[in-house]
Amino acid sequence: MYRVTIDKDACEGIFACLVRDDRFVESDDGLADFDTAAAETYRTGDDSVIAELDDDRIADARQAAAACPPGAITVEEVEAVTETDDEVDRQGDCEGSSGAETADERSEEAVCR
Ligand code: SF4
Repeated sequence: MYRVTIDKDACEGIFACLVRDDRFVESDDGLADFDTAAAETYRTGDDSVIAELDDDRIADARQAAAACPPGAITVEEVEAVTETDDEVDRQGDCEGSSGAETADERSEEAVCR
């Protein structure tokens, strides 16, 4: 999974990005936007557009970022969000929990199952 961020404060509406990656589009304000239909998640505000994608087109997005004169586009790989941080923390607590010897240890181990 990867995240594309357009810094709308930095964007100058040059549209070099559109010809590198057709998922970049022109918005009503004359600046770059991202095709919402292409994104897994999409958020926008006054200052930025953030789209997360899970496809094989990260190279296209990187070409668009490289072509942007003011450097308004950031492309970064991110972890897929499948679990909450709390769930991940609990799994970490349970690692290596086999071999409980005392009643307290066995009780704690049962919580982890
Ligand atoms: S190339 Fe950069 S400055 Fe031009 S429209 Fe795209 S994001 Fe904006």
